[in-house]
Amino acid sequence: MTRNQTLADRARQVMPGGVSHELRYRAPHPIYIDHALGAEKWDVEGKRYIDFKLGAASQILGNSCPEVMQAVAEQLTKTPYTGDCHALEIEWAEWIARLYPSADLVRFTGSGTESTMLALRLGRAWSGKDKVLRIDGHFHGWHDMLIKGAKPGTNTAPSLGVPTAITDLTVVAPPSVDAIAALLDQDDDIGTIFVEASGANYGSVPLPDGFLSGIRDLATTRGKVLIFDEVITGFRWAPGGRQARDGVTPDITTLAKVVTGGLPGGAICGRRDIMELLDPGKPRDGLAPPVSHKGTFNAAPMVAAGAIAAMKLLSTGDVQKQADAMAARLRDGINACFTNRGMAAVAYGDSSTCHLYFGGSSIDGLTAAQIRTVPPALVNGLRNGLLERGVDFMSFTSCVTSSAHTPELVDEAIEIFDETLGELTEA
Ligand code: PMP
Repeated sequence: MTRNQTLADRARQVMPGGVSHELRYRAPHPIYIDHALGAEKWDVEGKRYIDFKLGAASQILGNSCPEVMQAVAEQLTKTPYTGDCHALEIEWAEWIARLYPSADLVRFTGSGTESTMLALRLGRAWSGKDKVLRIDGHFHGWHDMLIKGAKPGTNTAPSLGVPTAITDLTVVAPPSVDAIAALLDQDDDIGTIFVEASGANYGSVPLPDGFLSGIRDLATTRGKVLIFDEVITGFRWAPGGRQARDGVTPDITTLAKVVTGGLPGGAICGRRDIMELLDPGKPRDGLAPPVSHKGTFNAAPMVAAGAIAAMKLLSTGDVQKQADAMAARLRDGINACFTNRGMAAVAYGDSSTCHLYFGGSSIDGLTAAQIRTVPPALVNGLRNGLLERGVDFMSFTSCVTSSAHTPELVDEAIEIFDETLGELTEA
């Protein structure tokens, strides 16, 4: 029995399915990572992987970025966390405010899921309306409030245990400004609009041209709170995220992953008048603060220290350009494999992402449900074949790159991709 198998057997005794996150589940068993550096990681058997998962897209600087590690290590000699205010959280918030167009004020949270929960509570409080409109297939974390519609083409919650009293408050819309305008006409109880700024699943379903500015105009004229979920796009698409690159400013932005330097945590930032609802010194309706938000580990100093180190590196845009170039190289290489093998499939993506579609050579005009419907045997075989050969391609059809990827590593991964594809299609 291999060391990975032994660990999986132990894990299943004490954790449901042996995992801490449902997407880490893998049959016959997951790989157990021991250490990681740059664009590579090694499992407990010493096997090396070229890494395109990168901490679920949190490690844009590459795994174990030395500057981030150093800052965390220095902070650990003082204290990891005491639950008090500290100077580092201010410096971290100042970086976000400097880089993010929508950031008059910043509040730190414990994760991306917590960020979207808090942003929605603020949207409801500010608008005075309980319903939220969200786009088909976009992902905003695992909580009850925004889970309906997370699976594209469904108008339900992809989970047991979510009350209909909650899902009744979520309206799922297609990514069309006209369709959203019509839904807002029909239902005056909608006060908040949520959108993954890249389009669903960090851009596997890109938004139509002009969608973000169209929805901005709509929200402004109708008095709705517009929230961009930039948990993935934040600091990745540009130092100021998708909103800075496109010049469209939401009322609130949700952040996690890169904003923490790839450490646990998250943040929201937004318009002063809305964010001030969190200010305990500005009571309203007898409530101080008007909108309640707590969280034991918000802005823990060890995280803040690493995050500031990351912000410094991310502020010029060079890191993003490097990661983007490596993703473009990966997409081009994979597309060459498809062409050479005469396969009607395509690698595509914005910024430092790469998505695969196996139903044709373009995704133009397809819905989220169509794009995300994959041939299971092929993608399972591809994911497992890649892992066996030492490439971790985040999910079955999507991955990200970092500034630590080199042309040599990307080319090696493309070669492995081609070999795996060959084995699957020629079998
Ligand atoms: N929003 C988006 C766009 C995400 O991609 C994710 C996580 N992948 C989340 C929210 C939730 O973040 P977390 O996993 O930190 O709760």
